[in-house]
This record gives sequence, structure tokens and C-alpha cells, in this order.
Amino acid sequence: MRLVVEALETGYGKAQVLFGVDLRVAEGERVALLGANGAGKTTLLRTLSGLLRPWRGRVRLGEVDLRGLSPARRARLGLGHVPEGRQLFPLMSVEENLRLGAAFLAPGREKEGFERVYGLFPRLAERRRQLAGTLSGGEQQMLAIGRALMGFPRILLVDEPSLGLSPRLAEEVLLALRAVAEEGVGVLLVEQNVALSLEVAERAYVMEHGRIVLEGPSQALRQDPRVREAYLSL
Ligand code: ATP
Repeated sequence: MRLVVEALETGYGKAQVLFGVDLRVAEGERVALLGANGAGKTTLLRTLSGLLRPWRGRVRLGEVDLRGLSPARRARLGLGHVPEGRQLFPLMSVEENLRLGAAFLAPGREKEGFERVYGLFPRLAERRRQLAGTLSGGEQQMLAIGRALMGFPRILLVDEPSLGLSPRLAEEVLLALRAVAEEGVGVLLVEQNVALSLEVAERAYVMEHGRIVLEGPSQALRQDPRVREAYLSL
């Protein structure tokens, strides 16, 4: 199943933020969306998951045109979203937070979801009864990713997972996304940590002022003088 975005435009009120964005993510693929603060990355993810309405353009998941579909319907079709800031419930346990991600699944699948998430993140299994608010930043990010995985997404949108984490934890979380993709899930990773994202993703897009200005295999982008100068400070 492939996520295909064509000529997408949107904004807030009269202020246009996205201008003709084209992007693709295939199942099992790791794709990074890079760009400075305010480039429009979060706006794009929120439009894809149905939280913002597009002005123009098309978003398809497999054969389905997502136009007008609610966020819940998109989730059921296989589009997972790990929002910026994690949005966990701090006074609920790890397990209760995870269960929320499975709310729309058939009851039998919840167990399968727990096994999968605890397999990927053994530390969450150890802390399953602990309140989410008492976890470390890295563990909270793993929990946010785990909660989205409980819905068995085919494509997972992940917004700034390394934000506020130490370099070591950021690396651990991004490497976990590699394991997610190995299970066949397409991952669209939004990041300001360009060096680390280019290590984790196979392919990347660079967004500036609401437009995709560069795209290509991560290895090629790492060598691109524009990327080296603007994002890698080399
Ligand atoms: P960041 O890394 O800071 O999240 P970003 O690339 O994700 O940056 P967006 O958050 O998508 O960027 O913001 C893109 C533009 O849209 C910015 O100019 C921002 O000020 C504006 N914007 C974002 N959210 C809103 C909102 N709710 N209302 C009005 N303007 C907004």
C-alpha cells in the first residue's frame, strides 16, 4: 500500500502554508521529510491524517482517495500518526495508553498489538503498569510510537520524534523506526535532526517555505552541497 500526495496545498485562514507538495511513501520504506522550523512539515502531516483540510490536491492511500475522510477513518484504513509532542495521557499507565491506540480494532487483535509493541520496545513491557508521565523522554516517545502501532498502520507518520531527547536516546528512537519499517510499515519521518534522519531514512525530501525543494536517496542528499551547507553545517 502506497501513500501518494499530489499537488497538495493548504494553510490557515488566508495564509497559505503548503504549495503544490508531491510526495510518496511505499510500504516498508523509510522516508524523511526535512526542513527548518516553520517550513510546513507539521502542517503536511496534519493534512495527511485528516486534522486539516486541504485546499487543493490529492492524497491517496493505496487505491483510496482520502478526500473528506475523518482522521478515525484514515486510521482504520492504515494511516498511523505519531503527533508532535507525543500527546500521551501522563496519569494513565503505559498499557492504558497503548490500549487507546487499539480502540477501533476487533477485540482479538489487541493482544496481537501488545505482543508486537512489547516485542519492539521491551522497555515498555517492563514498565507496562507505570504511569506514562513517569517515563523518561525516550520511553515516552517509544510509547507514542507504540500507541500508533497498536492500530496496525501500513503507513506511519512520525512528527519530530527526537525533539527534546539526548543524542543517544534520539538515535535509539530513530533506530526503532527502522525495525518498524522492516515489518513492512512505510515510515514518513519529519525531523529537524537532519544528520540522524539521513542515516535512518533511505530517501528524503527537503521542504522550504511550504515547497519541496530537493528530493532523492539519502546518500545523494548527504553529498549535496545545498544540504551540507544549510542543514549539516559542513
Ligand atoms: P516545526 O518544526 O516548528 O513544527 P514545521 O515545519 O512543522 O515547523 P509548521 O508547524 O507546519 O512548520 O508551520 C508552518 C507555518 O504555518 C508557520 O509559518 C506557522 O507559523 C504556521 N502555522 C502553524 N500552525 C498554525 C496555526 N494553527 N494557525 C496559523 N498558522 C499556523
